[in-house]
Formats: sequence, structure tokens, C-alpha cells
Amino acid sequence: MEIIFSKDIGFCFGVKRAVKIVEDLIKESEGPFWLLEPIVHNEKVMGKFKKAGVRLVTSLEEIDKGVLIISAHGEKTEVYRRAKEKGLKIVDTTCPLVTGAQNLAKKFQSLGYQIFIAGDKNHKEVTGILEATDKKAIVISKAKDFSKVKIEKPTVLISQTTQSLRNIKEIFKELKKKDKKAKFLNTLCPTCQNRQKEIKELAKKADLVLVVGSKSSANTKRLFEIARNKNKNSFLVEGVNDLNKSAIAERKRIAITSGTSTPDWIIDEVVEKIKTYEKDNPEKN
Ligand code: SF4
Repeated sequence: MEIIFSKDIGFCFGVKRAVKIVEDLIKESEGPFWLLEPIVHNEKVMGKFKKAGVRLVTSLEEIDKGVLIISAHGEKTEVYRRAKEKGLKIVDTTCPLVTGAQNLAKKFQSLGYQIFIAGDKNHKEVTGILEATDKKAIVISKAKDFSKVKIEKPTVLISQTTQSLRNIKEIFKELKKKDKKAKFLNTLCPTCQNRQKEIKELAKKADLVLVVGSKSSANTKRLFEIARNKNKNSFLVEGVNDLNKSAIAERKRIAITSGTSTPDWIIDEVVEKIKTYEKDNPEKN
């Protein structure tokens, strides 16, 4: 059995950075520590933080003192303001690429452009970009969303960092029909783009594909969709417990990639487990 890995795998730099900030914080400061959303979309990583005393709550009302940790996706301006009013210490792990997209939106808004954001309407990152434009930007999830949009000034398209290039191309093509001079400001995350490109190729070469990551992670689900389009034997697994031995054991070439919030140790566990299937089926090697 041959296992081929995507070159870009494990935590992305934004998640590595966020996890390190929180680990250092726990070591060096006094809590209580609070999160309004998971620091990473990975239940196993979150379980470790929970053991170390980090609490996940749904509203600021549940917090009266301590440290509020902002996740890598960023937060609404309103949350920063209210947290300060409550006297909470804020530790911000927002990914610099997410902040970069917000700053670009702000800049082009001040230059008089109509901003369009390609992304999922309810995603924190999209809300953050929207707020950077004083909610004057328009969120577009699919190209067809342009049907009722009127163009009255120069336009730019900015995207949620983890969007698929294919969706962005379709959206931009539609915008160009309405405004020939429309600009695209590329705020796509290079890590996500690399992984999407790589899995497209690897899925064609492999008998089976494993996308390791959380089912609640948008970029993991996107990788899985891309893999499955190219190879029907593609599986999204959160860890060793999701492995289907009978589906895997007889395969000759297995491709593995991961979401950006999947730690190396989960990937290692998956690989070790797969290798034991090989030992159980020596005649198939
Ligand atoms: S996926 Fe990209 S944008 Fe998101 S946290 Fe990681 S590096 Fe930053």
C-alpha cells in the first residue's frame, strides 16, 4: 500500500499562530479564559483547550470577568466594543489574512467603490469584512445573487479567504457582465488554494482519498467535495474512529490531505492505523 500526502497538510499558519497564542496565554496568564466560537473548528483540539480551562460560551452576557479570546476568523466590531465596556481583557488571534481582507475593503470603500464580498453570508469572516465597510458592501454567495443588483459606481470583488476559486470565477464573470471595469482583489488564502489544487490532482492518482478534518470545518468540507468530484472513493474522517477498514485495506494507493485546523498528531494516528490494515492483509501487498 502506498500513501501519498498533499504537500500542504496539517495546521495552516493562521491556525498555528492562533493555537500558539492561546497555549502561551494559558501558561502565562490567569483566567478565566473565554471563547465565543471555537479557536479552531476541530473538536479534538478544542477538547484539549477545554481541559486547560478555556470555556466556550454563546454570548458575552455569560462572561463577567477574565480574558476573551477572539478566534482566527475575527469578530464583529460590536463584540470588541462590548467586551471592553465589560472590562474584559481581549486576546486577538485573528489571522493576518483575514485582517488584510478587512483593511482592503475599508480602503476601497473610502475610495468610493461598491464592494461585493464573495462568501457565506453567516460566516464570521464575511461579517467582519462587511462591518469594515460600515455594512455598505453586498454579500454574494453564488453568481445568481447578482440578478437583482444595480451597479451605480465602480465595483470591486473581495472574497472570504477560504472560498473555492471556481465559485469566485463564476461570481466575478457575472459581475463583469454588469461592470466591465470591475476589479478582483485577491484575498483568497494561498494555503486553501494550494490544498484544493493538490487534492484535485492526487484524487485522480489514488484508489481512495482521505480528507482528515472536522465535519464542522468549511475548508475541510470543501476539500472533501473537490476530492469526491474526482474520486468516488473519498472519505472525510475526523480521526481513527471514522476509518472504514474494509474500504481501505485493499487499496493500493491512498491519498491523504487535511483541513487547515487538523493537527499533525491526528493525521499521524490515521496513518499508523491504516498501516495496521496493510499488515492484516499481507497477501494484498
Ligand atoms: S485558512 Fe488561511 S485565512 Fe484561514 S486561518 Fe488559515 S491561513 Fe488564515
